[in-house]
Amino acid sequence: MSRSGIKMPILPVMTFKELELHPSLQEGIEAIGFEKPTPIQEKSIPLAMQGKDMIGIAQTGTGKTAAFILPLIHRLMTTPETGKVRSLVLVPTRELAVQIDQTVEGLAYFTGISSIAIYGGGGATDFKQEKTALTSATDIIIATPGRILSHLNLNYTDFGSISTLVLDEADRMLDMGFQRDLMQIMRKLNPERQTLFFSATMPDKIMSFASHILKEPEIVNIALSKPADGVIQGAYVLNNSQKPAVLKNLLAGREVKSGIVFSSTKKNVLKLHDMLKRAGVSCGAISSDFEQEQREQILLDFKNRNIAILVATDVVSRGIDIDNIELVVNYDVPSDAEDYVHRIGRTARASSTGMGITLIGEDEQDKFGRIEQLIGEPVRKLQAPEEVGPTPEYNPRKKSSGRGKKKYPSRKGKKPYRTKNNKGPRSKGGSGKPKPKRND
Ligand code: AMP
Repeated sequence: MSRSGIKMPILPVMTFKELELHPSLQEGIEAIGFEKPTPIQEKSIPLAMQGKDMIGIAQTGTGKTAAFILPLIHRLMTTPETGKVRSLVLVPTRELAVQIDQTVEGLAYFTGISSIAIYGGGGATDFKQEKTALTSATDIIIATPGRILSHLNLNYTDFGSISTLVLDEADRMLDMGFQRDLMQIMRKLNPERQTLFFSATMPDKIMSFASHILKEPEIVNIALSKPADGVIQGAYVLNNSQKPAVLKNLLAGREVKSGIVFSSTKKNVLKLHDMLKRAGVSCGAISSDFEQEQREQILLDFKNRNIAILVATDVVSRGIDIDNIELVVNYDVPSDAEDYVHRIGRTARASSTGMGITLIGEDEQDKFGRIEQLIGEPVRKLQAPEEVGPTPEYNPRKKSSGRGKKKYPSRKGKKPYRTKNNKGPRSKGGSGKPKPKRND
């Protein structure tokens, strides 16, 4: 806590480099285009890399898949091969199995790590292929419990060599009645293994199940909060070039006593601050470039209402602890839904009402669509002021089900990929297996 009594913005967001994952994995992360870890990744990856057992409370959309896949692959690459299956990811549905397998393919593209998705419903050819994968040195098996148990009961697979077990969407697996199957599978595994347990919810029943199968687990909770009821949310659908005019219209000449404008770049923060100042808005700017003392002073001025509008980067959004803000403007769409909820949560504290307004640029519609999906409701689209001219239609793409198209990163300009035994990245048992048809 600072002298002013305001919690200071802390931790700059971590980079993937700081996580010190294997260089071939870094390459895959870059090729896929992930820039920085999501909160669940930032917290889970270091723990899982150390070999600890872990409970991750996080739902789909938070980046939880990469949160366990990255440390899993890292550990497989940094420990000796056994010539046998080395890890098992258990999931409730075949769709999720295929989706995770595709994430592995993308992230492990430069690593030579092999994987296969094993799920029910396939015919004899599939079963044979799965058997081959299970009796050879496949690094990662991603499977639904029933199907893997059918294989295990035929006694040709030795799961004693599995060093890491992941349970994904554990709550859903239990809801679907898989508990007995899971316990049977677990009895075949080495008790010394590492277990990573992911669940969107953690009621007592799930906690008690987890406590039976995990050893002194660390808990990482990224359960997504919903925006408070008092927050009125709205969004403008715009071309990027229309954003400055809309922002000015929102703030100039209005009686906003206390508001924050969030922007994703430091450069934009300064630009917007200058623009608003010129338009007569009482405002201050803050970003991680500013000295600590300078930040404290600006925050104090803002808290004391000497300045009405604070223009800030994402980096400081979590650290600003000031209540009763009337208006939050997201000049750019936040990178993840948690940030969105967090930012607009600055308004409407203590049963007051506040507004959270987002400016959606032409290249940010999909990102905003995902936020709406995660908060479970569409945000009201507002009519832009006439002077900015015609605005685009809102037409975000629905999140892919993960089936169908592969996520291999482009190899343009890259060196030939390295794999074990000079084969492709899914060389062991995974190749040639027909994927389910896309039906979304
Ligand atoms: P998940 O929660 O695993 O279903 O991931 C949700 C979406 O976020 C997927 O489309 C991922 O490709 C994407 N994603 C995961 N991690 C990151 C990251 N660090 N940066 C950007 N996108 C990510």
